[in-house]
Amino acid sequence: MSQKPPPKHFVKTPINGTKSVVLVSSAKGGVGKSTVAVNIAFALQNLGLKIGILDADVYGPSIPKLINLNEKPKSEDGKAMIPLEKYNAQCMSMGFLVDEQTPMIWRGPMVISAIKTMTQNVLWKDRDIIIVDMPPGTGDTQLTFAQQVKVDGAVIVSTPQDLALLDVKRGIQMFDKTGVKILGLIDNMSYFKGDDGKDYKIFGESGVEKTAKEFTKDFLGSIPIHQDLRSSADKGEPLTLSNPDHEVSKLFMSMAEKIKQSFH
Ligand code: ADP
Repeated sequence: MSQKPPPKHFVKTPINGTKSVVLVSSAKGGVGKSTVAVNIAFALQNLGLKIGILDADVYGPSIPKLINLNEKPKSEDGKAMIPLEKYNAQCMSMGFLVDEQTPMIWRGPMVISAIKTMTQNVLWKDRDIIIVDMPPGTGDTQLTFAQQVKVDGAVIVSTPQDLALLDVKRGIQMFDKTGVKILGLIDNMSYFKGDDGKDYKIFGESGVEKTAKEFTKDFLGSIPIHQDLRSSADKGEPLTLSNPDHEVSKLFMSMAEKIKQSFH
């Protein structure tokens, strides 16, 4: 499917303070999107890029937990917020602004306004790339980014089972229709390597790669189910940062290289 230019009436505002913006999106919740987003961000940092992480999941922000950071951002003028800094990354999340236990019961216009605040009123500084952890689905946040924010591309994360893939197709079509370049698809929880050395394809086989082919999109690679990835996420120390030589980190590094290359 060819990329269509966005309709003319959408004015796409850039995020200041960064050279590029990449969305990490998933059609369904629980496929490991946030874990993948954070690990790709630090893999890009390992490649020498100055990174920012923007958690756009206003309903269920997970970045504070994934990098073990929870402070209130400061503001000098009461309007623009200074992003927090952790592991040499600049970070912003709705989770820094509200109590962890507070449920976010927001209507569409409030979500749109929160996204505008986080893209226009944050003082990102001197970044090469901002990785945006999107909420799952094709709702208000996706549309706001696709239509109103200047982004350089999107990555779609899925598990290989049919149920998740159906939604992925919807996600691909939304980005295509709104003129957001899809940099590629990632197959997460692709297989589990047992003690017997065999790969167990728990969620099915090659579905994400096939979907990428069907829609003529790039396939960026597969990440297995791995306990170290889960435990590093729970500790708030992304695996690509804490153990860049880990076999799973190397897979993220190869994806990060492909993402980096797509800008040159
Ligand atoms: P999403 O953002 O899609 O809702 P998360 O990134 O929050 O998903 O991941 C959901 C859970 O699955 C987390 O506990 C995370 O640590 C775990 N997880 C994600 N990907 C993997 C993987 N490849 N192997 C093991 N655990 C994973």
